[in-house]
This record gives sequence, structure tokens and C-alpha cells, in this order.
Amino acid sequence: MNTALIPEEIVRIGESLLRFVDQEVAPIEAANKALLSSDRTIFDENGRFTPEVEALKRRVRMKSAEAGFYTMFGPEELGGGGLGPLAAVYLNGLLSTHCGPGRTLVHPVVIPSPFTNGLSPVLTFLDPSLRDQYLPLLGSGDRTLCFGLSEPDAGSDVFAMKTRAVRDGDDWVITGSKQWITNGPYADYAMIFAVTDPDLATKRKGGITGFFVDTKWPGFNVVSTIPIMGQLGAEIGILSFDRLRVPDSHRLGAIDQGLKVAMRGVNTGRLGLSATCIGMARWALVQAVEYAKVRKTFGSVIGDHQAVQILLADSAADIYAAETMLVDCAQKLERGDKALAETSMVKLHCTEAANRVFDRCMQVHGGMGLTNELRLEAGYRFTRSMRIPDGTSEIQRRTIARDLLANGVNF
Ligand SMILES: Cc1cc2nc3c(=O)[nH]c(=O)nc-3n(C[C@H](O)[C@H](O)[C@H](O)COP(=O)(O)OP(=O)(O)OC[C@H]3O[C@@H](n4cnc5c(N)ncnc54)[C@H](O)[C@@H]3O)c2cc1C
Repeated sequence: MNTALIPEEIVRIGESLLRFVDQEVAPIEAANKALLSSDRTIFDENGRFTPEVEALKRRVRMKSAEAGFYTMFGPEELGGGGLGPLAAVYLNGLLSTHCGPGRTLVHPVVIPSPFTNGLSPVLTFLDPSLRDQYLPLLGSGDRTLCFGLSEPDAGSDVFAMKTRAVRDGDDWVITGSKQWITNGPYADYAMIFAVTDPDLATKRKGGITGFFVDTKWPGFNVVSTIPIMGQLGAEIGILSFDRLRVPDSHRLGAIDQGLKVAMRGVNTGRLGLSATCIGMARWALVQAVEYAKVRKTFGSVIGDHQAVQILLADSAADIYAAETMLVDCAQKLERGDKALAETSMVKLHCTEAANRVFDRCMQVHGGMGLTNELRLEAGYRFTRSMRIPDGTSEIQRRTIARDLLANGVNF
């Protein structure tokens, strides 16, 4: 990414972030190479991270928190660093380009996803009386969090959710289930969204409320992990709630206004995720260019063949366009512009472009591109899967088109 567009202090943070990864995380990875090099040792027979891997992730999280990276994007009012969208774009991209895909202790451990771990912007809705109890534990990386919105029958269509919260005295009683929840099987705390007014929800006018719950409370169950795309285990999982009793003090924001709560920080989150994908794509292109300069077929290096040059050139064009969009959109958000359509364009383009780049870079490597050793396939799987969460590509297109039809071509 063009650092000329990034403020000097953010570039400096980037330098120390990479130093941190090289000096603090890489040695832990090297010392545990055997454990971390195969899904067979990373996950147990139920598809859960093994206790050893969980312990390593915790160690890295806490080191990252101590160094100030883990909470650097957390809102200042919660004790976070308060860095904005431009920093999120630059630092997530930089980290991903430096480390590449398939590093269990890096993504998203060093910098957490804003919806799952650390000082999530959603926690600005946590009752102030509870902040001292929970925020230090979450900000230090000692405890982790998950964000439970999606359900088996409610993904893109959030209002179709079936999980219900019913008021009972000073408590709410929650019954239902959540699916695809990142960090769900491992989290200490969960931000759960449930229908509190079915009429409003049916009319799509609200009726959903957020709650902060301790996953050890009776009635909170982890059903299973959901291994996806060639993995033997997963970070995502299914949760169920059987008369889970939650004090009203643990409500997140106003009753029936949970979707506004859930969407807090969604723009920066989408940009950070997009930058992570494009940063990895840049890493893949570096590998492909180097390989094209040394691999020989038919008496010349493959970089001399025009068909291979096209794979490289199209990848570079995809990355350049994506990075330019990322910076432009982040600058708009920094200026206070909502940039709704632009954020959707960024999420759509970056995840799809990064997936195309990995596909092409694997092709440049021939059979080697398919091996686990080069980690290109891990990047392919990661970028492919990122076209679904945080709003699918089709939902992003829907948002863009609606904005175009309502407001014209104003980006
Ligand atoms: C790796 C991963 C991590 C996730 N993490 C979380 C998490 O931490 N917390 C959480 O709450 N959820 C999480 N999700 C869930 C994610 O947000 C949903 O999977 C996503 O919103 C899509 O919902 P769905 O899977 O039910 O697909 P559906 O909504 O059923 O969509 C099926 C298909 O129809 C298309 N479609 C749906 N509606 C429309 C429409 N109106 N116009 C055009 N096309 C449409 C979709 O784009 C898709 O192609 C995660 C998902 C994945 C894969």
C-alpha cells in the first residue's frame, strides 16, 4: 500500500507491529512448529482447538494487549487506542502482507476482529456499572468474546431470527440458537441478539435487543464447531440457549433497538476485513512473481510466457484498485461521511479480488500451488470464505444498488 497516503504516526505503529510479530510471535510459532503445522494437531476429534493451541493463542493475545496492539482499534471510552478506519486499513493490510495466510497465532489473534474479541465497539452499549467488571478482562486478552446474531434460518435476513428474550422480573429469559458464531465455541462472554417484540420484528421495524452474557451461565450451551472448507476443525460454531437467564443490567442498549447496537463499528470492521484479504493477496502476488522468475518450462522461465504474465498483471490490477478504494473509503469515514455504498463496494471488491488473486497465484505455481506447504491454498480458502460473513457479496450489491437508485451516482 502507498504509505504516502498514511499519516506518519500510523506508519510508525506499523513498523513496531511487524517488529512485535517477528520478535514475540514468530519464536513461539517456531518453538511449536510441529503442533501448529497440521490440522490434526491444531484441532481435537470434535473440531475444537486443542488446549495447547488455545493456550498459545491466549499467550499471544495477552502479549499483543500488553504491547498495545490488541486494543488499538478499541474505542477510547472503553480504554482502547481509538485508531480510526485509515489505521485499520493500513495496519490490517500490512500485517497480512508481512505474515501471509495460515498463521494460527497471527490472524485474528494479534489484532482481533472488532466483532469478536477485545474492546468491540458494541461494548460501548454495555451499562457503565459493568465496565470495570468486564472491560479489563477483555482488553487484556485474558478473556474472549463472541457476537451472536446469525441463526440457522436467519443470516442475511436478520429479522427472521427465532431466538426470543422474554422479560421475567428483573431478568430476561433467552431461548433459541445461533449459528456460524466466530469464537463461539471458546468465548468467555457473548453478545447475543434476540427478538423482544415479535410484531416489530415481523414488520422489520426493530423488536430485536442485544444482551451481554457470561457463557458459563446455566442455559448457555456450545453445540458444536462447524469445520468449513477442508479444515478438520473450526473457530466458528453453533450455540443454543435453554432458558438462559440474563439480568436486565446486562442488556446492550435500548430495548428493541438491538440492530443499531449490532451495527456499531460495522464500517471499520468491514474495511479491516477487506484490508486483511487484500494484504494477503499482495503476499500471494509477491510469491507468484518470485516463482515466475525462477521456474522454467520449455527452455525459459514461466514469467516469459504471456499466459503467466496475464495472471500476474490481472492480480496486480486487482490489488491496486482494491488498495486505492480502501484508502479512499477510509478517508471518507475519517471525515465523518457514512460512506455506506462505498464500504459495501470495498467489501465486495476486496474479498472477491483477493480470492481471484489467490486462485491465479496458485495457478502460477502449478502443482506446488496446491500444496499445504506454500500456504497459498490456506489463503484461497480464507479469502473464499470471507465472501460470506459480514454481509455476503450479494447483500453488498443490494446495498450499493439501493443507494444508487435512491441517491444517484454520488460516490
Ligand atoms: C466464516 C464465517 C464467520 C461468521 N461469523 C459470524 C459471527 O461471528 N456472528 C454472526 O452472527 N454471524 C457470523 N457468520 C454468519 C454470516 O454473517 C452469515 O453466514 C451471512 O450473513 C449469510 O447468511 P446465510 O449463511 O444464512 O446465507 P443466506 O442469508 O441464507 O444466503 C444464501 C444465499 O442467498 C443470497 N441472498 C440472500 N438474501 C439475498 C437478497 N436479498 N438478494 C440477493 N441475494 C440474497 C446470499 O448472498 C447467499 O448467496 C459467519 C459466517 C461465516 C461463513
